[in-house]
Amino acid sequence: MFSKNIGIDLGTANTFVYIGGKGIVIKEPTVVAINQKTNSIVAIGNEAKEMIGRTPNYIYVVRPLVNGVVSNFEITAELLKYFLNKVLNPTLSFLIKSRVVVGIPTNLTEVEKKAVKDAVRDAGAKEVYLVEETLAGAIGIRLPIFESSGSMIIDIGGGTADIAVISLGGIVVGKSIAIAGDKFNSDIMNYAKDELKLLIGERMAEEIKILVGALGEQKEIKEGIMRGRDLITGLPREVVINSNQIEKALAKSIKILVNSIKSILEETPPELVADIINKGIYLVGGGSLLKGLDKILSEEVKIQVHISEDQMTAVVR
Ligand code: ADP
Ligand code: MG
Repeated sequence: MFSKNIGIDLGTANTFVYIGGKGIVIKEPTVVAINQKTNSIVAIGNEAKEMIGRTPNYIYVVRPLVNGVVSNFEITAELLKYFLNKVLNPTLSFLIKSRVVVGIPTNLTEVEKKAVKDAVRDAGAKEVYLVEETLAGAIGIRLPIFESSGSMIIDIGGGTADIAVISLGGIVVGKSIAIAGDKFNSDIMNYAKDELKLLIGERMAEEIKILVGALGEQKEIKEGIMRGRDLITGLPREVVINSNQIEKALAKSIKILVNSIKSILEETPPELVADIINKGIYLVGGGSLLKGLDKILSEEVKIQVHISEDQMTAVVR
């Protein structure tokens, strides 16, 4: 009677839901808070992310996709159901034929893929399809992926950076590495601990990364205040940190990212490399918003790097 086409980007950091004809209807962190005493879910999405680092010890906050562990797929299933129920009226779902396409990380096992499909079906979807996120992202930014010409897309998310060379509708060479937004946050936490003797939380690190983080010679140098606990006195302390320090903190990770891109280019058939040199490399995902990252990558691999508009929603679109 009625039919709905739905797209879901199940990211390690954020989940997006798109409904055909309507646009993006859900944009929330892939985070779930669980009460260990009752073994029940306390909060999902935005509300759960607010709780990170602020819970009593019997409530723990999980990001079910980060480690890609199968047991956490039960929680993922609950999260998907919760979001889908928000947008699909469950009492009408038997009337509505919903077709759902889910963008999934490249490394999922067959068991995990089945778990995602089952979860979406459980939530009321009639037909479920899975698609690799890099492929979906390339379609989202309207790269001509079905042509016999190579396109390189790099999706820098929370948990992973996925690098893919696409031609004729498929991924020719691809790799997923655990260097992305989360790693940048933990680099900043480690820098604060080692260099400034300051213990900071994950959310503080992320805030500073977004506010102060910048790479490259031509960057505008900003300053921000990091609040945490002094490692020596054990008391609260504030430290001013600037973009140069953040760049130092991230240097190793950026180097690994650069080397991974280079090694993918080395594995890419020469005809496709020629296409990529012509067209440039496309960045999507929230991690690619780190200021100056595009310039650094471009200088290192000697190929133009484009950041697409609305890069965080490329996959779901
Ligand atoms: P995923 O697809 O894995 O869910 P996203 O594409 O949603 O990930 O990106 C989330 C990551 O992007 C987080 O690590 C977040 O800190 C980072 N991020 C978001 N905005 C910015 C910004 N302005 N600068 C740097 N990093 C950012
Ligand atoms: Mg993503």
